[in-house]
Amino acid sequence: MKRIRIGILGYGNLGRGVELAIGQHDDMELAGIFTRRDPSTVAAHTKDVPVRPASELDQGADDIDVLILCGGSATDLPEQTPRYAARYTVVDSFDTHANIPEHFAIVNKAAQDAGTIAVISCGWDPGMFSLNRLYGTCVLPEGTDYTFWGRGVSQGHSDAIRRIEGVADAKQYTIPVEAALEAVRSGSNPELTTRQKHLRECWVVLDEGADADAVEEQIITMPNYFADYDTTVHFISQEELDRDHAAMPHGGFVLRSGETGDGNPALIEYSLKLGSNPGFTGNVLVAFARAAHRLAQEGQAGARTVFDIAPAYLSPYGGEYLREHLL
Ligand code: NAP
Repeated sequence: MKRIRIGILGYGNLGRGVELAIGQHDDMELAGIFTRRDPSTVAAHTKDVPVRPASELDQGADDIDVLILCGGSATDLPEQTPRYAARYTVVDSFDTHANIPEHFAIVNKAAQDAGTIAVISCGWDPGMFSLNRLYGTCVLPEGTDYTFWGRGVSQGHSDAIRRIEGVADAKQYTIPVEAALEAVRSGSNPELTTRQKHLRECWVVLDEGADADAVEEQIITMPNYFADYDTTVHFISQEELDRDHAAMPHGGFVLRSGETGDGNPALIEYSLKLGSNPGFTGNVLVAFARAAHRLAQEGQAGARTVFDIAPAYLSPYGGEYLREHLL
């Protein structure tokens, strides 16, 4: 069996997650890790895999079947995905939900012009959660959708706290409100406000001499980030933050509560409890890289999302095996 050769561009949390996920798949191998930094300053987890300069990709790295783009959604992927789709089969995890239509259009043009496949916005949200929202609305057209996130670390909210004067470091957890989840599970289809669905818990390290009350006030009143939530703030030392809050857990729930045609209640619930957000996202990207490779081998071209890919394309097994064992 010829293995699928994967390249990783960008070696942060997600790049490492993808690297380690590839080791779980016999039909894949890691051909190289590409970085914009000086490669000699980047130590890969896998000892025998070369860290290569990103500039090599512009010359055409012909030992790569699929390039998994692990840059950040804010500024890296809007530039990198169309650029590398012009040359490679690519997969990204672009997660700025409001900008997905625009990102899709730009990447689609680049991929169609080049005759390549580009799978965008893969991961768990967008990604596995999106698929479950879609299945729910299709199967139960009369019903209500609910998505809860957490318990997990929100990078964006943690960054927002760190930008406050007097804050040395911080981690923010998003936590679903148990009573709201139970109300949804009861089938009562409640209408829930932002405050009723999630809590925010902040663990903050202060700069020496900073005013804790002033910092807390700035956090809990911050528009868009905290003002619409019940937020608790805990002040701890850097040692405690490093010891107790270094992991990047996440997860959540997608529910669809409705009625079948005969008037009976039906509830669909999909949940994720992830010890590592980038670890799990890496595993999802690798499965979709297999699908992207197959689509490319069929001669297809253009951008795709998780909605456009038939599930069997994700599996290393053939249709006969899947029908016998999983159907
Ligand atoms: P990150 O650790 O900040 O890495 C982003 C990029 O920054 C890396 O690709 C790397 O590029 C560069 N970098 C990393 N460490 C660096 C360092 N020490 N010094 C300088 N540059 C460094 O971000 P991440 O946690 O991997 O997340 C990447 C993106 O994944 C996020 O922006 C998010 O949008 C997306 N995501 C999506 C989902 C989903 O469900 N769809 C879930 C989780 C995350 P170079 O190697 O080229 O320098």
